[in-house]
Order: sequence, then C-alpha cells, then structure tokens
Amino acid sequence: MTVRWLAALALLLLASCLAVRDLVDDRAYFERWVAATPERAAAFSRFEAQLQAANVGDVVPAYQLWMVDQLRPECAPERFWIPPEEEWSRIVPALVFIRDHVRPVIGEVRVVSGYRAPEFNACIRGAPQSAHRQYQALDLVPLNRALTRERLIELLCPVHAAAGAQANVGLGIYAGVRFHIDARGFRGWGSNYHRTTFPCDGARRADLDDGGHGAT
Ligand SMILES: [Zn+2]
Repeated sequence: MTVRWLAALALLLLASCLAVRDLVDDRAYFERWVAATPERAAAFSRFEAQLQAANVGDVVPAYQLWMVDQLRPECAPERFWIPPEEEWSRIVPALVFIRDHVRPVIGEVRVVSGYRAPEFNACIRGAPQSAHRQYQALDLVPLNRALTRERLIELLCPVHAAAGAQANVGLGIYAGVRFHIDARGFRGWGSNYHRTTFPCDGARRADLDDGGHGAT
C-alpha cells in the first residue's frame, strides 16, 4: 500500500515538473521568437494593449494566445504565429467568460489551441466551420494536473448551464481534460464533436443546439 502510494506521489511530482518545464520552455521560446523581428515585437505590444484595454490582459499569459495547436505536429511547422490583426478582438468574449466563470471554479488554465488558419484547421481535422478559424475559440487544459476529468465535468457543466446562454458560449469537452470555449452560440458537444457525447447531458437535458457545427 505504502509503495503504491509513493509511486503515485512520484508520478504526480513528475507530471507537475514536466508541466512547469513545458510552460517555461514555451515562454522562453516565444520570447526569442517574438524578438526575432521588429514586426513581431510591435504586433505583440499592440495585441497586449488591446487585451488590457478590454480588461482581459491577465486571463491567460498573452503569448499563449498565439500558440499553434500541436495536436498534429506534422501540421504545425511553427510553434507560434500572429493571428490576423483584424480578428484579434474576436477572442475577447471567450476570454471574458473564462475570466468570470471558468477560472473561478477550476483555477488557472493553459491554452493549447487558439487561432487556426483554414488550411491548418483542415490539416488537424478540425470541424470545417470551427470557431477557431475566426479566432473566437480556445482549447484549454487546467493548470492543476490533479484535477480529474470527472471533477472537471462536475465543475464546468453547472457554470455553462447557468451562464452560457447569456454569454452565448459553446462548451466542448474532449478526451482527458482538454476542453473548448467559444462565444459563437450556446451549445455543447463531447469527444465526437457532436451533442450525443456532451458529458453535461448526463445530469441535464436542455434545449441546446448540436455543437457539431462549431466544434473543436
Ligand atoms: Zn476548440
């Protein structure tokens, strides 16, 4: 029993160390990447200023909002890119929902997918009409590695049921603890990108639209 407990503790510590190392690596890489050209550095300053003006400057580290989804690394030659500037403001409503409703219940979150150019979205097999294409969506994981999928569902479903309609928010819950938030309509879906697998429906049956149209 003690050995098993120690083994579990060791695994937990290792996972935490790996998570911290990933974040440090990402930020260090981004700092080099953004400083590599004056255009990138100037664009990132404008991006940060726009987020701060909208009161969403500290919801997630701003650099994470330029990360390229690494779900299928063969589709992602770069680790970061600059979303089209005319689309930047579209990410604000999702960030407001995360700030007001997601972080208060599950704690800090990390972005794993943000803007997707159409050809990139097709390559990673995102939904054809994915809200990521218009920079209206984020895929996230909790920073707290101890949070289980079951607990994540327990915490997110009531929040989405209570505040999702007014905020026009779609919630997707995928494999593990990866989940999607967008501000393109009140709907929900699960691991097959359709309403049939929406985990929140285990506790509740509301008249939501199928999420398949805007999934992933
Ligand atoms: Zn998504």
